[in-house]
Amino acid sequence: MNRYIQYMYSYPHKTAYRPLEGIFFEDYAGCLAGFGNSLYLHIPFCQSRCGYCNLFSVYGQEAAAIDRYLDAVQRQLSQYQEMLLPVDASFSDFTVGGGTPLLLSEKQLTRVFSMIRESLSLETGACLAVETAPNQTSRKKISLLREAGTSRISIGVQSFCDQELTALHRNHKAKDARRALDLLAASDFPCLNLDLIYGIPGQTQDSMLRSLREALGFCPDELFLYPLYVKPGTLLGKEMGRAPDPDFTYRQYLEASAYLVSQGYRQDSMRRFVRCQGKDYRRYADCGTQTSLALGCGGRSYLGRLHFCTPYALGQRDCLRQVRMFEETEDFSRISYGFLLSDEEQKRRFVIRHLLIRPGLSPQQYRERFGTEVLEDFPILKSWIQQGFFKRVLDEASKEYLAPTDLGTGLSDYLGPQLISSDVKKKMEEWEKNYGR
Ligand code: SF4
Repeated sequence: MNRYIQYMYSYPHKTAYRPLEGIFFEDYAGCLAGFGNSLYLHIPFCQSRCGYCNLFSVYGQEAAAIDRYLDAVQRQLSQYQEMLLPVDASFSDFTVGGGTPLLLSEKQLTRVFSMIRESLSLETGACLAVETAPNQTSRKKISLLREAGTSRISIGVQSFCDQELTALHRNHKAKDARRALDLLAASDFPCLNLDLIYGIPGQTQDSMLRSLREALGFCPDELFLYPLYVKPGTLLGKEMGRAPDPDFTYRQYLEASAYLVSQGYRQDSMRRFVRCQGKDYRRYADCGTQTSLALGCGGRSYLGRLHFCTPYALGQRDCLRQVRMFEETEDFSRISYGFLLSDEEQKRRFVIRHLLIRPGLSPQQYRERFGTEVLEDFPILKSWIQQGFFKRVLDEASKEYLAPTDLGTGLSDYLGPQLISSDVKKKMEEWEKNYGR
């Protein structure tokens, strides 16, 4: 049985997006009225291409290319600012992701923070999250991030074994990650997150546990543990041709999750582990799950039933083409690529978003939002309860949730894809056939 079908990060998947006509930002700006929205800025620049990467990123670009990109973001921002004025939108979190955001110079980073603060309203105490990478984590940039009010910093370490980093085509060594983590740990960000990967070619149970032990030595507040996916169109896809052995990967997952729980981490999902020591981590978990506005090229906006972004691209040539088109865009009010969710797709999105993450799916919230019963709309859930993948639990306020069991959590990438509608599945398959190989 292959438990690694797909990571249900967001629904519908970007490969199901298609060209749209007659859609204007202003008509959906009302979705951002009031408090509690998310803001995301995508920085699609990296030092080089990691072997497993199917994210929207380009490498080897000069500082001038990044400046051009930021000019376009500024133009986009001022147009959005104008369209958002009537609805009085404010944002409770702002994430700078990528790509490798800290590839930006200090001057460029300062520009990013000031243009956001000057154009949009960030709420008091808003969560500011930034992604970084070992080679780009310098003392100066870290203090700049602290001064800008960064509350969550996330670093992609992946492994502390050099052979495994080479197998992943990562451009850093374990010593670079140690140096970066020393800096981050000393800077005392409210939330330090560290990413690791299992299922790496050549990785053993022992070497994976060694990486985990070393990671915990830096006391991360959160740890994301990703199974390696080998996708068509990636470097590893060309090199390996097939995915790692799913049974071995699953055994690694079982051992890693048991170890983290034994070390005082709470497992919130198949990938997310949170150190249980007093801080309120729920708010970081919520980052990026609300109504969300994306800036730049490659990030997704979720405004009610409208999801949109620039067209999904893989590989240097196609991503660069999209970046150039973004830079040449004069009118950001016209939404030309995305997905308009039907009522049924909105229900699916709700279920997928909540079911596989603690505390789980609230049947009451579902009823209040859609006016129907989740177990009637999704009879497959009843059979999953019978098979022990999910169970009914009550929280401290006696509110009922449908929560994944340990078994169900470990099968997230097998169960989640079964909730994809046939229409979305068809579109994703079409994309894979035409562009993904
Ligand atoms: S995995 Fe991250 S750091 Fe590596 S190429 Fe992709 S976006 Fe860049």
